[in-house]
Amino acid sequence: MAHRPGGLLAAKIHLKHISVVTTEGYADRPGGAQSVLMAEFGQEEQEHKMRVALNAFHNYQNGIRPAGPGASDLLDFFAFVDEQLDSSGAPNIKRSDQEVTNLLAKRAKALHLGPANYCWFLDPSKALCLKLAGAHARGATEPLIGMCDSARCPQATHHAGHRPVWAASAESKKVFIATIGRAQRTEKARLSTELARDERVLAEIDVQSGTGA
Ligand code: SF4
Repeated sequence: MAHRPGGLLAAKIHLKHISVVTTEGYADRPGGAQSVLMAEFGQEEQEHKMRVALNAFHNYQNGIRPAGPGASDLLDFFAFVDEQLDSSGAPNIKRSDQEVTNLLAKRAKALHLGPANYCWFLDPSKALCLKLAGAHARGATEPLIGMCDSARCPQATHHAGHRPVWAASAESKKVFIATIGRAQRTEKARLSTELARDERVLAEIDVQSGTGA
């Protein structure tokens, strides 16, 4: 009904919705207020990703490096961007953010922000989350952030901003391990392995970002 001429209002009245925006949501109506809202949200999200990528690049220029399995690929890319900037003019001129932004655009578009890592989703065939999901994820064009295993995925990087999440994770595991009885050896071994992983990630972040004590 909502897709017919004048149908949106009719559907609103029929469904007793207070706002026509709600009806659009139900009807998935293209071009409506909800679509405009989603487009604005997408634009804002893209701009935020660009700011994150730009910040990571500026950190790189200041000697603050990413950690994680995807760090060396990201460093190679940042070195390439730096080279492009150097070859495009006098070396001592500070480049405008717009110039850097143009070079970072594709990489920023591929960026997904996980709570404990950045995911540079450039190649679905390398995505560990999709491999773990198996047949269910065949043909996927987005990462499965909920299944992210960033300590092992070649597209993941860890930065100083992720440190509190890993530190909290390590602390909670220490508390759990201390309360586990001898009978639960398997559970203790599993948590100890995960704790070792958390501590390794923290140590790598500290080395690369200079956040160590
Ligand atoms: S495992 Fe994590 S970092 Fe790797 S592709 Fe999936 S979401 Fe991205």
